[in-house]
Amino acid sequence: MVPFREVVLKVHSRCDLACDHCYVYEHADQSWRTRPKTISDEVIFRTAQRLAEHAKTHALPSVSVILHGGEPLLAGPARLRRICEELTSAFDGIAALDLRIHTNGLQLSPRYLDLFSEYDVKVGISLDGDRAANDRHRRFADGRSSHPLVLKAVELLRQERYRHLNLGLLCTIDIENDPVAVLDALTELEPPLIDFLLPHATWDDPPPRPDGSPTAYADWLLAVFDRWQEQGRPVPVRIFSSVASTLGGGPSLTESLGLAPTDLVVVETDGRLEQVDSLKSAYEGAADTGFDVFAHTFDEVAAHPGVRARQLGLDGVSETCRRCPVVRSCGGGLYTHRYRSSPDGEGFDNPSVYCHDLAALVHGIEARTPADTVAPAVAGPAELLAAQEDLTRTLLARLHADLDGGGGERWARAWELAAVLEGSEEGARGLDGVLAHPYTRTWLLDALAALHEDRPQAASLAADGLQTLLAAAAVRAGLDLRVPAPYRDGGLVLPTLGRLTVAGPGERGTVLVRAAGEGFLAGPAGGAERKIRRSAAAEPGWLPVRAFPLPGSPFPGHGFVIDDLDPHRDCFAAPAAATLAPAAAGRLGDALTEAWALIGERAPAHGAESLDGPLTFTPLTGGAPGEPWVGRHGYGALGIGADQDAGTLALTLLRGVRRARFRALVDVTDLYAADGAWEHRMPWKEELVPFSRLLEAAYERLALAAFDPRYRDGLPQALDTLEGAAELTIGGKRLLTRMRKEF
Ligand code: SF4
Repeated sequence: MVPFREVVLKVHSRCDLACDHCYVYEHADQSWRTRPKTISDEVIFRTAQRLAEHAKTHALPSVSVILHGGEPLLAGPARLRRICEELTSAFDGIAALDLRIHTNGLQLSPRYLDLFSEYDVKVGISLDGDRAANDRHRRFADGRSSHPLVLKAVELLRQERYRHLNLGLLCTIDIENDPVAVLDALTELEPPLIDFLLPHATWDDPPPRPDGSPTAYADWLLAVFDRWQEQGRPVPVRIFSSVASTLGGGPSLTESLGLAPTDLVVVETDGRLEQVDSLKSAYEGAADTGFDVFAHTFDEVAAHPGVRARQLGLDGVSETCRRCPVVRSCGGGLYTHRYRSSPDGEGFDNPSVYCHDLAALVHGIEARTPADTVAPAVAGPAELLAAQEDLTRTLLARLHADLDGGGGERWARAWELAAVLEGSEEGARGLDGVLAHPYTRTWLLDALAALHEDRPQAASLAADGLQTLLAAAAVRAGLDLRVPAPYRDGGLVLPTLGRLTVAGPGERGTVLVRAAGEGFLAGPAGGAERKIRRSAAAEPGWLPVRAFPLPGSPFPGHGFVIDDLDPHRDCFAAPAAATLAPAAAGRLGDALTEAWALIGERAPAHGAESLDGPLTFTPLTGGAPGEPWVGRHGYGALGIGADQDAGTLALTLLRGVRRARFRALVDVTDLYAADGAWEHRMPWKEELVPFSRLLEAAYERLALAAFDPRYRDGLPQALDTLEGAAELTIGGKRLLTRMRKEF
């Protein structure tokens, strides 16, 4: 059951306008005629009690109550005060109360706004655009214009003393209106938000389409979108923000679009509990639940089949919608707009009556959204590396913030030292070098997990990692700074550099490290220092990280490294192997070099030149030959079995580099959303898999196909399946375009 977080409270059932598009008075359901005009004390009291109880039962952090009508201001200030008082007192100490009112503004005066200020009631005003647009429907019963009075209300709300209450403008679309004039009129009033609403309609009572176009509403909204872009997007427009969010893999931001479950219920002036108000457009009694605040709890209403039907997400839309590529953004449209009466009781199991409009709107906004503003990391290696570096730095800042002064003396000093390093060009470069090291990310994730799980060694894990990282950064930068660095089990591991034995097995302590000439000096405070040359091969007590040059690699000196030293390297699904003996490490390095040469010959586009950064290989025990491992680390590491021939290693590398790049992309950008909601056939395995698996497998297979054409089998079908899938985000589409070019 989805608890209600939004309640529409009908406080007055009549209106002082006679809009001909109003769903309350002008549509199928005429139940308003039998309701009391004004909400009673009893209904207010019971609603407040029931709602607070509902919030408490479900531990809701906040609940929005929208005062609605008819026209809610007709209830008068005394009644509205009573409502605010009851709700505020019932929610005291239980949940935050977000009070709002949707009004036509005609009665709005300082008297009301002072009251709203007292209870922090936010105010939304209905305005359909410029005067011609507004007066097309929003007129008094005698035909007089409401426009001047609404503008007065908006002006009042814009005054400094009331501005904090301004919720924005609600505009019901009429495609006879000039979209540009409508938007200009609305943005001129500088509202904090504009909400465009499609007029309520069903398949039985479809919306007017004067020129017969099936996409007339999309065309109108896209004309608004273009004008809005031209204006520099001066205010948020909810429908556009929602589509942009879902296209990028985020949630929908309005009930009228997307697959988010509805968590809204209506309390009528007589205390009856009803489903969403717009259902009144469908048929007489469509919104009825048969429940009321006197005899029923909100939990009972939440379990009502009609309410549940609007909370089922993908399972609650029609079969046509389930197969639609834009369903994540559209969600089948507003529930009411799906209604069609039929002898076999089809009801709401249909696409929206605005189906063509909604599809055209989503595609139109997508076509107008520059991909690089949505998913820069997909653009190229430099952007991906920058996004990955940003992620590591964000995690480091997060660790510092979460330690919240509890990291101890060592952390505090190390943090100060980090700022000193950042202060010079060489220092910042040295720091960048160690932050880009894949196992720095592993340390950060481990330290954050230890901290959040309240493990006793959390602070020490954090400080150990930062100190060794800074010592390595200072050495890389060649800065003459004495950096304390902890050693464990007799060994000091400087990330990206190597392991120095400073004491006997099992011993732990701290040494001071400082750069000197081509290497560094390390020793206890006040004791003898040992000098290490960075370029030196292994020597007694010093084991450098082994770097191997790669012909054609854009990273001179170290096309790849074998890291079998870093204490954080054991982050793969298979265990990390112990440090290799020199001969075994040499053999592995030679085999990797040979494998790269083979790739360079047979698939030059995937050779050493194509690398985004130096690769770090960590030998693992177990695992199938040809299978690379990507674990819980930053970009650029691969776990591999130690004994493989060059041919097998070439396939491992092709697959592994793509897998690492794919995972790095997924770390920093949304390539898909609602993964697992559908299953897709993987052509080369005759297996049904979630979208993410098919995308990753196709991405890897493209690299293999460049090396061995037999891997081309099934790729065209896979690319077509991916392209038509609803899970694909705008960033994912960009990746897919690149994949198609590769093929
Ligand atoms: S565009 Fe049409 S078919 Fe697709 S989800 Fe929306 S209403 Fe359903």
